[in-house]
Amino acid sequence: GYRSRAAYKLKQLDELENVIEGRDTVVDLGAAPGGWLQVAAEKVGPQGTVIGVDLQRIKELEDPALVDQVETLRGDMTEEKTRERVVEAAGGKVDAVVSDMAPNMSGEYSLDQARSLYLARQAFETALELLDTGGNFVVKVFEGPDVDEFRADVEEEFQYVRVTSPKASREESSEIFFIAKGRLTAPVATGD
Ligand code: SAM
Repeated sequence: GYRSRAAYKLKQLDELENVIEGRDTVVDLGAAPGGWLQVAAEKVGPQGTVIGVDLQRIKELEDPALVDQVETLRGDMTEEKTRERVVEAAGGKVDAVVSDMAPNMSGEYSLDQARSLYLARQAFETALELLDTGGNFVVKVFEGPDVDEFRADVEEEFQYVRVTSPKASREESSEIFFIAKGRLTAPVATGD
């Protein structure tokens, strides 16, 4: 079984827009307890790689068919040093960056929404750093006033962006997902 109900959201997002393929290298941000990791590891298969990052420790997957393609890191994605560790772990081109990061809920919607958007923007920056041309990006964000502007920024970097609320997340009605497909030309690394 899956470690979280969240697993079904990634399944549904992937069914909708085919985000992850066999042999891919995928980076999963906000990965604990590991439901998305399980789904992503199944999709990439034994020749793929999934790197999961979270503030919380992620328990190693039990399934022997998935454990080899998964690596986990504990760290804060708002810190540059965590991003550097992710870049190092990926060791080259990344095909998809997926983020289910969410803040600890304060109960005050405008604050939680602002924090969610901040995390989503951090995920976007990470995606721009890591994704190869043609790569895909999935990100969760709570609906709110600045989300359209964020969407426009993401649209500039990808062929298209679909905004959706998967069935599995309808009861948490404030969360939406961007599925950004086909990163436009990634800058060539210059080494300086
Ligand atoms: N996708 C996961 C799954 O399927 O099991 C569930 C993710 S849960 C909804 C959101 C996660 O985001 C939490 O585990 C939280 O610790 C993580 N998170 C929040 N802020 C973070 C940050 N700055 N850096 C890394 N992870 C963060």
